[in-house]
Amino acid sequence: MSAGIQLLTADIVVPMTRETEILVDAGVAIEGDTIVAVDGIAELRTRFPAAPERHLADHVLIPGLINGHHHSGLLRGTAEHLPVWEWLRLHIDPMHRVLHADDAEAAARLCYAEGLLSGTTTVVDMWRYMDRAAAVATELGNRLVTVNYVGEHPDYDYFDTLDDNERVLREWTGAAGGRIMPWVGLEHPFYADDAGQQRAIAMAKDYDTGLYTHCSESEWDVQIFQERTGLRPMRALEKLGFFETPRTMIAHAVWLDADEIALMADRGVSVSHNPVSNMKLASGMAPVAELIEAGVAVALGTDGEKENNNLDMFEEMKVASLLGKLRTMDAAAMDSWQVLRMATIEGARAIGQEHRLGSLEPGKQADIVAVRSHTPRMTPLLPAGAYANIHHNLVHAVRGSDVSLTMVAGRVLVEDGALRSGDLPRIIDDARARIPDLFARRTAYLDAIDTPRGLFSA
Ligand SMILES: [Zn+2]
Repeated sequence: MSAGIQLLTADIVVPMTRETEILVDAGVAIEGDTIVAVDGIAELRTRFPAAPERHLADHVLIPGLINGHHHSGLLRGTAEHLPVWEWLRLHIDPMHRVLHADDAEAAARLCYAEGLLSGTTTVVDMWRYMDRAAAVATELGNRLVTVNYVGEHPDYDYFDTLDDNERVLREWTGAAGGRIMPWVGLEHPFYADDAGQQRAIAMAKDYDTGLYTHCSESEWDVQIFQERTGLRPMRALEKLGFFETPRTMIAHAVWLDADEIALMADRGVSVSHNPVSNMKLASGMAPVAELIEAGVAVALGTDGEKENNNLDMFEEMKVASLLGKLRTMDAAAMDSWQVLRMATIEGARAIGQEHRLGSLEPGKQADIVAVRSHTPRMTPLLPAGAYANIHHNLVHAVRGSDVSLTMVAGRVLVEDGALRSGDLPRIIDDARARIPDLFARRTAYLDAIDTPRGLFSA
């Protein structure tokens, strides 16, 4: 009966099947890529007497974390403290123009490794050359929602195209045992012309997949939508047909009114909340409590290395909690269970994968993270009683570097805090080696167009 089954056990398991559930001296039984049982250690040993057991003393097991918004990249820390237009026009957009497929691949490998090391098992990556990114995820073992950075407009012809996106949909849907999940992407709704918008919507329907875009990140979005359409952004997107896809997901969704929130809930539009990015770029404070209250699936995302500057979902959880409290001036807002749900089961719901991912329960994929608990940051550690604090410790105290084991689809990718599915020093060296040429190409591009550096304004 227990042939092929392995047990992963620890002091504490936080399965995220329902709030406040904390299992002591418990574990997970795994067959292939699938969880078959979550129970006490004694019960598991009785039920699966022949199963080999890996016991992690002084560890907490949680579901793999889902990063709902990310851009792989190589610009970390090189474009700081800039007004958003100068940042985009002089640093980010010129990088897209000179980016080679090999740069994109090196960036994806670096970022997925960083994510795995800090407990991220699924990443939604809006990036370029997504066939390369899909190959990297196949090799490193993480799950990947591919979202091509598409510009389908003469003014934005330096991004991927919808043809590129369709090729990824055709070639990668369901690849790597279902770990690769291609979606349709638009950098922004207005980075596509009318025909491009309609083709993106049609592609999401044809391939029965999601459509992903940035929107309502800054007040500029509301202004430009009202100038062009006479409507607020979500009403305009509805009118254009964006919400008729199987699933539409909006990164940021900071500037919403009550009508837009009700509309998003009604149409099953999901959101990635990216608090570090919103704070760093001074975009604003998203109405997360109102979105959750309305029933919208809200994931948590780090955004890219240039907006964050790390991909640590534990840090993102802490900042989401703190920003939610400050925004409402209510220390009880965004409680730790709610934040943990955003990083796990609600993240899964936001990408339409709650039947497979986001919690530890029989039938779901074995995406499991082990967090070290015999640490100053986890002390005291009280799993039960009036002072139970494991959920607060996970959100407010733990860091990504406390992750010692990351498993995806039953395969151990990080063990003893080290990447097992890739050669980390080589991944870092490869990324670093690409920087001088990438930056030189960007400088040459800017020199050739005689850009008035530093003088840009909207
Ligand atoms: Zn973004």
